[in-house]
Amino acid sequence: MAKRSVCLISTLQDRTASVILQHLRISSFNVSPGARSRAGRRSVCSDSVAQEVKSLEPKHYSSREVAIIGGSAAGMFTAHLLARRGARVQVFEGAGQLDPRPRTLIVTAQMLETVGPASQQAITNEIRRFELFTDGRVAEIALRRPDLVVERSKLISCLANQARAAGAQILLGRRFLGMQTNARQLELSVERKEDGRIEVVGAQTVVGADGAVSRVAQAAGWPKQSTVPLLQAIVRLPRGMRVDTTRVWFIPEDTPYFYWLIPQSPVQGALGLIGENGVQTRRVLDRFLEKHHLEPLEFQAARIPLYTGWIPVRRKLPSGEIYLVGDAAGHVKVTTVGGIVTGFRGALGVAEAILNRGTYRRLKALKRELDVHLLIRKAIHNFKQADYSKLVDLINATVRQDLETCTRDEPAKMLLRLCLHEPRLLLMGLRSLLANRSALRVRDH
Ligand SMILES: Cc1cc2nc3c(=O)[nH]c(=O)nc-3n(C[C@H](O)[C@H](O)[C@H](O)COP(=O)(O)OP(=O)(O)OC[C@H]3O[C@@H](n4cnc5c(N)ncnc54)[C@H](O)[C@@H]3O)c2cc1C
Repeated sequence: MAKRSVCLISTLQDRTASVILQHLRISSFNVSPGARSRAGRRSVCSDSVAQEVKSLEPKHYSSREVAIIGGSAAGMFTAHLLARRGARVQVFEGAGQLDPRPRTLIVTAQMLETVGPASQQAITNEIRRFELFTDGRVAEIALRRPDLVVERSKLISCLANQARAAGAQILLGRRFLGMQTNARQLELSVERKEDGRIEVVGAQTVVGADGAVSRVAQAAGWPKQSTVPLLQAIVRLPRGMRVDTTRVWFIPEDTPYFYWLIPQSPVQGALGLIGENGVQTRRVLDRFLEKHHLEPLEFQAARIPLYTGWIPVRRKLPSGEIYLVGDAAGHVKVTTVGGIVTGFRGALGVAEAILNRGTYRRLKALKRELDVHLLIRKAIHNFKQADYSKLVDLINATVRQDLETCTRDEPAKMLLRLCLHEPRLLLMGLRSLLANRSALRVRDH
């Protein structure tokens, strides 16, 4: 066992070094030094900004015609990245207006570093502390860098403005139906919401940013993704709850994931969970709300892809190429089922691949990180109550320091530190991995 542990640690160490390196590179893209100081936040690698921006200059300045299907977070950010490098970008969004339903999200500060200050207007709160509850126990983790609470509808508006300013054309009420190829390019069939007419649009490159159940992916022959339901209720914050603190509950009999309560303002927060089955998820949330005397003011829900392994994001056809980004590509951390930051990082990778014709450095780094999340999820997915209790008991001063320093967008670094500083965590994880080889139960409902 000792030998295997050492071997795993050294493999992780190698991977970690390169993941961190990639992570640092990504962090500085798209943020000018001036913009960063306006944002009032320090970049992880401010010294390398100029070098990094230079490395992103496309080898072939793009005059490509790119059609992006889906005008949400990943699609709008991809549009911005490509349009500002000269590509002729059109975004086709099925909804008639750019006012997606509200959704409260929590992200690491890496969001700002990735998309730049344009996203700042979408921030509604900052989280400086996590409280973890399980079976009467509680552990507190203070964050070195605050997490950001973001309103998704505002974020999409900010990103749309940024994409438009870069020259992208955003067409609302345009639903993608299917795709054909001709000798020169890809031909997309798009339905106009206002009169139901079908338009045929030509493009050399198509980017599917159309969410978990991507029609672009289906049309181009990608396999269907597994998904899980995420459901949250907006509630008034319980009396005495700190507005800078997110609460997390591990209750394995309700969910193999967790419940959260994220304050979005001094008076309201989002209380939710990730489930496996839609009906059951609603049932346990209702029970939880009742038990904690919380009244739901509104519900927010959708199915989000479950990352069970990397899928190549590009398909090459004789007359063009097709890429996937965001939820359509399954770029979601399977530990927390968060897809915003990883979706943006996938967008950076796809933009890099399109502009520099086949450079996949960023996508490879993202794959490594998503794979580490998968490893962690597999290790904890079948934890019983006793395992969570033990886990919380193992949070000593050093472990707490590791959790405070690394974010969930640096999973390899966090895992390595935790394993080195508290080997019992490593043993727990290994034992659970070996006991539950097919740990990630996936059901589609
Ligand atoms: C309740 C809840 C809470 C969440 N909390 C978090 C969180 O705290 N942190 C986090 O990181 N993530 C969170 N997520 C996940 C996160 O919201 C998603 O990963 C992210 O929004 C995905 O963005 P996207 O741009 O890839 O896809 P989507 O937001 O799904 O957008 C897809 C877009 O494509 C459009 N579209 C679809 N089909 C077509 C078509 N045929 N033609 C044209 N347009 C089309 C849609 O109208 C939509 O605008 C949460 C999800 C839920 C449901």
